[in-house]
Amino acid sequence: MRITFHGAARQVTGSAHLLEIGGHRILLDCGLFDSDRVSPDSPNRHFSFDPRSLDAVIVSHAHNDHIGRLPCLTRAGYAGPIYTTKATGDILNVMLRDSARIQREDLRNFQGDNGPVEPLFELHDVEWVVDHLRRLPYELPAEILPGIYLTYKDAGHILGSAMVQLDYREHDRDRRFVFTGDLGRRNTGLLPDPTVVKNIDILVSESTYGGKELDPNEKLIKQLHAIVARATRLQSKIVIPAFSLGRTQRMVYCLQELFTVHKVRPIPVYVDSPLALRLTDIHREHPDAYTPQARKLMDRDPQYFGADFVHFCGSWDESRRLNHMSGPMIVIASSGMCEAGRIKHHLKHAVEDPDNAIVIVSYQAEKTLGRRIAEGVEEIEIMDQWLDLNAAVYVLDGFSGHADRNDLAWWYEQTGGNIEHAFLVHGEPASMDAIRPTLQKFVTNEVVIPEPLGSFEV
Ligand SMILES: [Zn+2]
Repeated sequence: MRITFHGAARQVTGSAHLLEIGGHRILLDCGLFDSDRVSPDSPNRHFSFDPRSLDAVIVSHAHNDHIGRLPCLTRAGYAGPIYTTKATGDILNVMLRDSARIQREDLRNFQGDNGPVEPLFELHDVEWVVDHLRRLPYELPAEILPGIYLTYKDAGHILGSAMVQLDYREHDRDRRFVFTGDLGRRNTGLLPDPTVVKNIDILVSESTYGGKELDPNEKLIKQLHAIVARATRLQSKIVIPAFSLGRTQRMVYCLQELFTVHKVRPIPVYVDSPLALRLTDIHREHPDAYTPQARKLMDRDPQYFGADFVHFCGSWDESRRLNHMSGPMIVIASSGMCEAGRIKHHLKHAVEDPDNAIVIVSYQAEKTLGRRIAEGVEEIEIMDQWLDLNAAVYVLDGFSGHADRNDLAWWYEQTGGNIEHAFLVHGEPASMDAIRPTLQKFVTNEVVIPEPLGSFEV
């Protein structure tokens, strides 16, 4: 097998890894780099491989840094199948349509030097992708190309997320290749722990939090409890920037647990994102995806994700009304890194009041507004206005959907070792360097941290 890393190499976006097995060319994921979908020189505008030469595309999960460029494949001439799990197929449909909408809006505000700029893709390209999806259940091997069997393993990262296991024969040897996709955390309460996979010959592992230890769920719930109690006491607002997919549902679930199991006095929760509402509906359609403990809690609530205290805001009017409401209340809005979307309006109205709280619950990339807030700078710029950051800032990044260094070490150990070749992707270089010695204990050859476009025969 030859593997070439076309994205997420020494960075966390643009997942795309090309496998060549016995003359077949398989692409794992096809994600967006950063979030730039507009500028003419965006890295998202060109492929570093020929999409027409691919035989199959396998998707690990429906975050945009793993699926965001799928519709560009069809524009570039790809005509083959796209494999996903069942839930990922549903989510991907919503995510890519939303992405096409964002592009149309961004392009309206964008003035290119050389005339109008084309969108990366249009709605009909998304429809093509959805028509070419082949949805597979977890744990059931499917022969996707002659002699190449794909088995999806639950990764516990978001609804529908999967590790990709490929079994094939090469040079008279049975081989097992595993790509972790994004690996979830253990004991989150909501999603099952990442599935253990054994007898791996070649491994490609994510490493987002390879250098960090995150707080366990019980501690996070206690911290959330204290923050809610403070808001009740001060009659103030809690603003939570959260991705519409995964993190928003996790936060709603944790608040549900806090109010119903731990008997904390409920305060109103507003989820201000039409996208999150659509995605939450999909979460309600997949009750089998959750842990028995989560099922028990959610079965008490006919709506799942959203008992009486959760309100979803669809329209702009509802969103604007929240700015003038007084606490105690919680607003959950996207984007998760505060770079765009309705969260900016909520922050603008909330950050100067020291009674309010901003709760950071996910990974914040360098140079984003979310990262500056998490670092607790004194002033922030929102929509061309400089504001004092007086609100209390809490960083609860343990709510992340990514395995931390302990979860990764646990999962590596469970493989049983004897891995022949391993590669680290999807992390900042410092995280990769930090987790490499841990992984090395289970790998016979030296663990590789590939450069972009690095290519290896294994
Ligand atoms: Zn992800």
